[in-house]
Amino acid sequence: MIRPPGFAGAAFGTTASGDSRSDAVRRAAISDELGIPADWAFVHQVHGTRVLEAIVPGSLGDADAIFTAAGNVPIAVATADCVPVIIEASTAVSVIHAGWRGAAAGVVMAALEYMIDRGHEPQRAAIGPAIGPCCYEVGPEVTARFVGHVAQTTWGTASIDIPGFIEQQLAGLEVWRSGECTYTSERLHSYRRDGTRQRQVAVAWLPTS
Ligand SMILES: [Zn+2]
Repeated sequence: MIRPPGFAGAAFGTTASGDSRSDAVRRAAISDELGIPADWAFVHQVHGTRVLEAIVPGSLGDADAIFTAAGNVPIAVATADCVPVIIEASTAVSVIHAGWRGAAAGVVMAALEYMIDRGHEPQRAAIGPAIGPCCYEVGPEVTARFVGHVAQTTWGTASIDIPGFIEQQLAGLEVWRSGECTYTSERLHSYRRDGTRQRQVAVAWLPTS
């Protein structure tokens, strides 16, 4: 697990953490390690901008961000190259799944607005491991959506920096960024590298004490 320093309830899994959506045994082990309940709230991720509120654990439906102001209700998204983001307020927390489609459509802004609309002031954000500009080769139809965040892969083709794009949207917050690239890191799942169905989880929660 990767624990961003200074966060009350935030963790990013690695391959060693297993796929916690479907693997209840591994999820229980991680929950034990983190000191949180073993039942989490999930969404069916669809690369959109919808935010859903979790009041109790379980499957919430189609969305790409989860908000909760309930104490000790872990909320989670699963990724393998897409960007997992956790936003903390002192009285609420959100978790976001942002691939290039969701990022371009504004899922991070939607999650920020959702939190603010409900009276919670976002304080800090953690951007977890994702495919980096070093490896995220894309075509011109995608670079056109990310003006100012176009980069180059280590092999010299056009790429985009989605974590950098998201960091810019989080201006004003204290931002921690993993910087680890899923495509090159052996300890992380990468869909682009392996075509895997496996994902790593990002889990957030609002501690009760
Ligand atoms: Zn890379």
